[in-house]
Amino acid sequence: MGRRAPAARRTRPGTVVGGMLVAWALVIGALTWFLADSQSKSRASLAQRLDARAQLGAEFISLYVGDVLAHERSDALSWLQVPHVSERRFESTTAGLGLGAAVLLDGRGRLLAVVPAKPSLLGHVMTGKYAHLAAAVAGHTAVSDVVPSAARSLPVVALAVPFPAASGRRVFSGAYQIAHTPLGTYVSHMIATPGHRAYLIDGAGRVIAGPPAEPTTAQTLAQADPRLASAERAQISGSYSTAAGQQYFVRVPVSGTGWQVLVTVPESQLYASVDGPTKWLSWLAVAGFGLAGLEIILLVTRLMRSRRSLVELNAELDGLAHFDSLTMLKNRRATEEALEQTLSAARRHHHDVSVLLIDIDHFKCVNDELGHRRGDEALRHFAKVLESTLRTEDVAGRWGGEEFLVILPSTDGDGAVKMAERLRAVVANTPAPMRNEPPRPMTVTVGAAEWRAESMEELVARADEALYAGKSAGRNTVALAKPAVAGEPQLV
Ligand code: GH3
Ligand code: MG
Ligand code: MG
Repeated sequence: MGRRAPAARRTRPGTVVGGMLVAWALVIGALTWFLADSQSKSRASLAQRLDARAQLGAEFISLYVGDVLAHERSDALSWLQVPHVSERRFESTTAGLGLGAAVLLDGRGRLLAVVPAKPSLLGHVMTGKYAHLAAAVAGHTAVSDVVPSAARSLPVVALAVPFPAASGRRVFSGAYQIAHTPLGTYVSHMIATPGHRAYLIDGAGRVIAGPPAEPTTAQTLAQADPRLASAERAQISGSYSTAAGQQYFVRVPVSGTGWQVLVTVPESQLYASVDGPTKWLSWLAVAGFGLAGLEIILLVTRLMRSRRSLVELNAELDGLAHFDSLTMLKNRRATEEALEQTLSAARRHHHDVSVLLIDIDHFKCVNDELGHRRGDEALRHFAKVLESTLRTEDVAGRWGGEEFLVILPSTDGDGAVKMAERLRAVVANTPAPMRNEPPRPMTVTVGAAEWRAESMEELVARADEALYAGKSAGRNTVALAKPAVAGEPQLV
């Protein structure tokens, strides 16, 4: 019906803020992912660098062993090819190679010479007890695992080379305490990472050379470092935990031997460059960025909210400018505008229009008897009755004081009289409820006028005349205005 002021429209929380929150979450998520990913990649590349270093170490050890074997072979060819190798010749050859222990075998594996001297063994076949000697007798250069040494307490390995002699193939095998050679020193200093430990172990897990701080007595890795031993049995590289924290290890085979290089470093040292202050600064930067983003979104939300309430306030003010604050019906100006619009539409489409001018009878008495506030209550009551009685398309407005104008579109004089009569009856039968007082009966007098293509002012003036006639006729009645030319209003 559009007669009452609309309540201010509530705008739902802006989708803009929702969109900003989603964008913010996406950016922070992407940053977090990127940072975590790049940190894990940096860690992986640090581990790879250690792996490469261990690989290089293993390659160096392999070359070193090959070099020692080549020396052995060239000395054997120079000094041990003679048909009979004297004890003295053998001793001087082994001394030239810097060896404390060595053996010379013939093509069947029988012992021809031994240092330190042990005459009781001469002539015995050695290949059954030592696999590396058996391999060398078969014609292959061979590197042994840790073998029982004369001293027993030191890890000794043997490097055996076959070589040709006039009487057939011979085998020369020298025994080395790697830990006491330059190779041993190299193993213990192979890695630069602080806190590292590097081992050279044989195929059975016995330590050939290890960190300088650890005793170089013959022992297995399981004895030297049980946790590392069980970790390296399961995988080639990875991490394991110790009381001192997580350790990273890598195991690399030494080609040409059954040996392996094993390096272990504390992860705190290995990843120090990634896990250090830069890591926390990066996360701090992301957190700061996230908080700043949230702060901006909050600010925008607040701005949008205050802008929304301003818009709502404006709309409310705009609405109030058109409505009467007591009855919330259209005020006089808005009623006049509505009537002008209705008349111009009716002019275009040749429709009927009628108006009712309604005045409450003896309203002054209500004020005088019950007070002005009760008078207001009665006016509000009347406005409600008016609204509930009219049709949807009708428009009601407060014309002034206790006078109201109703616009009845598409309604001729007869229809207007019927509507006015119905309204009059409803008002007469619906006393105004009064707080703490008995309901107050009210009546109205209605002047109805059918539009005759005249101006708005002329139409309302005729309705007013009819109303005046109705008042004169004794009130609580309806009077229909006659056409402008015809003169007197017609009482119904
Ligand atoms: P009648 O129309 O039947 O001739 O008698 P009446 O007593 O209604 O006459 P009149 O038009 O002279 O008086 C109208 C009264 O309505 C006067 C005024 O005090 C009262 N009035 C006008 N506007 C308001 C209002 O907003 N509130 C209250 N309480 N009274 C109002
Ligand atoms: Mg009046
Ligand atoms: Mg009156």
